Amino acid sequence: MKIAVARETRDGEARVAMVPELVGKLTGLGYVVTVEPDAGAHALITDEDYRAAGAEVDAAAVESADLVVSVQPLGTDVIRRLRRGTATISFLPTGQERAVVTDLRDCGLTSFAMELVPRISRAQSMDALSSQALVAGYRCAVVAAGMLRRFFPLNMTAAGTVPPAEVVVLGAGVAGLQAIATAKRLGAVVKAYDVRAAAAEEIRSMGAQSIDLELETLEGAGGYAREMTEDRAARQRDLLTPYIADADALITTAAVPGRQAPMLVTRAMVEEMRPGSVVVDLAAESGGNVEGSEAGEVVRIGNAQVWGGRNVPSQMPGPASRLYAQNVVNLVTLMTQTTEEGAALFAPDFEDEIVAGSCVTHDGVIRHEPTRAAIE
Ligand code: NAD
Repeated sequence: MKIAVARETRDGEARVAMVPELVGKLTGLGYVVTVEPDAGAHALITDEDYRAAGAEVDAAAVESADLVVSVQPLGTDVIRRLRRGTATISFLPTGQERAVVTDLRDCGLTSFAMELVPRISRAQSMDALSSQALVAGYRCAVVAAGMLRRFFPLNMTAAGTVPPAEVVVLGAGVAGLQAIATAKRLGAVVKAYDVRAAAAEEIRSMGAQSIDLELETLEGAGGYAREMTEDRAARQRDLLTPYIADADALITTAAVPGRQAPMLVTRAMVEEMRPGSVVVDLAAESGGNVEGSEAGEVVRIGNAQVWGGRNVPSQMPGPASRLYAQNVVNLVTLMTQTTEEGAALFAPDFEDEIVAGSCVTHDGVIRHEPTRAAIE
């Protein structure tokens, strides 16, 4: 059976769903791997690199494939060229991609969404939300360090002592913890806040100070946060104001599944920051944690430069692709049976929790209930 690696066509997407070093994992399972020409170009991977790893490079890769892997959802033009019964694996935010979902259904494709892979221990190695959040969190800290016109670390020199920068991180999930770890490694003094009780210990384990606002914690289902009431949000903003005013750099990474990003920092709070301050809002694309931030832009609010994240993992396409490709390989391996002759059979077992959870469409039907309820 054939796995095709699609060339990404969406604006600004620099990642690729498979990297040469992992092609051997798929050919080892018995698959033939074909890659669209230039699929890895933005991640600095050449067609020759893929060939050397045992893949074929073919402009018609997707049409003859049994499974097409990509980072972003496939375009409608590609979906309509696939054979009925072909499977696809990609990110597929079904709430925003209704037209793609109906096309996948109507063309009889079996589609899997990486963001729907259940976040259970057995699926950790397939969890692309986490792997990409890790990249994004690192990038946020490095962007803040790059924009700040002062040192992150303490410097004690013959010419005097330069105090370290103070960094505040709001939201300490996968991305936030990685931002904390990176800012700490660069030597900053880091304080962080999250609404989940468990996060306080994780923040401390990174060597950062956990900000205790003495507010109720907000645990939701599956280890995620719950949405705040407007009253709690206002109190949280009031209590955070002095911490933000004191920060040289503020990094926000807060999210609530299925909701707009919570607005944690008002324009007035940013205006309290000192000249030269930097704000990095990872959530800018999904509504923003910081009032006035704009995805993909740097805007000035008061004394601060506010950087709004836009497809942040794609800004480090090499490592982001490597991690994503490993997630894909692990998911494909779960869905593969090997025949007695040693050939690979892509045969997802829909009784399996991971397969069932991540499947969006199959055999002309939308199988993901919330998506079906929203679309049909
Ligand atoms: P996420 O991207 O949904 O949210 C990021 C963070 O924002 C979370 O820590 C959340 O608590 C925080 N947040 C939400 N509202 C906030 C507010 N008003 N103020 C401050 N912070 C706020 O979450 P995530 O990073 O994907 O993961 C969150 C949790 O899920 C973590 O506990 C993580 O360990 C867990 N997780 C489990 C698995 C697994 O078991 N396979 C995988 C990944 C993550």
